[in-house]
Amino acid sequence: MIITPDLKDKVALVTGASRGIGAAIAVALAEAGAAVAVNYRERADAADALVADLNKAGHRAIAVAADVSQAASVARMIEHIRSTLGPVDILVNNAGIAIVRGVDDLTEDDFDRTITVNLKSAFLCTQAVVPSMRAKKWGRIVNISSGAARGAGAIGPHYNASKAAMEGLTRGYAARLVKDGITVNAVAPSLIATDMMSGRTELAARIPLGRLGHPEEVAQAVLMALGNDYMTGQTIVLNGGMAFV
Ligand code: NAP
Repeated sequence: MIITPDLKDKVALVTGASRGIGAAIAVALAEAGAAVAVNYRERADAADALVADLNKAGHRAIAVAADVSQAASVARMIEHIRSTLGPVDILVNNAGIAIVRGVDDLTEDDFDRTITVNLKSAFLCTQAVVPSMRAKKWGRIVNISSGAARGAGAIGPHYNASKAAMEGLTRGYAARLVKDGITVNAVAPSLIATDMMSGRTELAARIPLGRLGHPEEVAQAVLMALGNDYMTGQTIVLNGGMAFV
């Protein structure tokens, strides 16, 4: 029984890993032995600093800039990772945006941007890595969803829709890829202390545990999804006791 997976000889890509939850996942994967590609959109300094820390600790890691909502950027990113670290064995679709809007202020542009960055990016990255995972008969894909896939959440209906659809994407791929040795699961956190939640200290009052979650707690749930061949199409929920689904 593998509790903490040994990811030696595996190559992992974490999208949106320059900070927050993605950065914590990148660290956890590196500590479990994987070579890690740290994707970011614009914060090169943060991604480079994380990679420097990982390299200093003896881990293989590279930073790779790409807007993962754009097909051409994703194709360039995957090819760069292949030629430097090797084909991607573990994909964590974490990049996301949260445009806080009330119903009356929500625009078509807010909706489109949210769906493109939070949902289409996961589709583009998954399509790009599945061929090499199939060839190896092994792959792991973890999609970072949210409690907002089911509950009201703190952002808005556009965000709810992007995350609920991400879980549909998870199950759709899981059903079709399990025979190839590829599992596809989701991790759905709520209210984690990152830039996305900055300035929203009032939210802690909603959480029975009495505090926001830590990015490292989300990373721990991601690791749980990696060591198990038999679990696929599932969502691991973590929310300090706010909801039970
Ligand atoms: P965050 O601190 O705002 O960080 C977002 C990350 O995504 C950054 O690394 C950013 O890169 C990257 N990113 C954004 N758009 C991108 C794009 N188009 N292409 C590539 N990278 C992009 O967010 P977080 O709180 O860590 O959230 C991470 C994920 O967890 C998101 O999917 C979010 O929806 C989900 N989530 C968060 C919470 C929470 O309470 N924090 C709860 C549930 C779910 P740059 O900085 O370089 O632009």
